[in-house]
Amino acid sequence: MAKSYVHEVRKRVGPAKARVKPVIERLAVEHADAKIALTFTTPLELLVSVMLSAQTTDVNVNRVTEKLFQKYKRPEDYLAVPLEELERDIFATGFYRQKAKALRGTMHMLITEYDGEVPEAFDDLLRLPGVARKTANVVSAERGNAQGIVVDTHVRRLSQRLGFTKQEDPVKIERDLVKLVPREDWARFPHLLIWHGRRVCDARRPACERCVISDLCPSSRV
Ligand code: SF4
Repeated sequence: MAKSYVHEVRKRVGPAKARVKPVIERLAVEHADAKIALTFTTPLELLVSVMLSAQTTDVNVNRVTEKLFQKYKRPEDYLAVPLEELERDIFATGFYRQKAKALRGTMHMLITEYDGEVPEAFDDLLRLPGVARKTANVVSAERGNAQGIVVDTHVRRLSQRLGFTKQEDPVKIERDLVKLVPREDWARFPHLLIWHGRRVCDARRPACERCVISDLCPSSRV
C-alpha cells in the first residue's frame, strides 16, 4: 500500500484509540447474541471444554462434552479410569493423547493443591498442566474476572484489519489490545470480533458493503 494512501485512510477513520469504543458499541448492537459457543454449567466443565477446544471447533467439543460431562463430574473421575478410556472418550476432539495427559495432570493438581476446585486467580490457572494463556484468559473472562484479551484467529484478523495492531504474534497482539480496549470490555471484545468475523468479516471475502463499522475501518473496501 502506498504511503500517501495509508496516510489518507488513517486520516479518514481517525486514530485507533478514538475508534475502539464506537466499534465495540456498534458490534454489541449488531451481535447482541455474541457469547462463548462452548456449553458448560460449572467452572470445571468450562475449564475442560476450553482445554478440549484447542485445534478443533466449539461445535465438535460440545458434541463430545455432552456425554463426557455425564460420566466425569469431579476431578477424581478423570483419574479413576484408565488413561486409554479417557483418550477414547475425548478422541473426537483430536490430539486426544496430549489432551488426555493434560486433563489428568490438571485434575491431579486441582485435587492436591486447590481442594478439587478450579482456582480463580489467573496465575494459578496458568500453573495447571496444559493450560496456556489463551485457556486461562477464556476461563477468567467467563467467570467475570477477565485478566487479558483472548486472541484467536478471528480476533487476530479483525484487529489487524481495524488497525488496532500490526503484530502477528498473539501475545504481542494481546499486548496492543489491552492498551486500547477499556478494561470493562475485555471479556466481550473477543466475542464481538469472533462473531463479526464469522458473520461479516470473512477471512477471504469480507462483506464490507454490509458491515456496520465500515466507516471506522481502515481496510474497508467501500
Ligand atoms: S469494513 Fe470490511 S474489512 Fe473492515 S471490519 Fe468491516 S468487513 Fe471487515
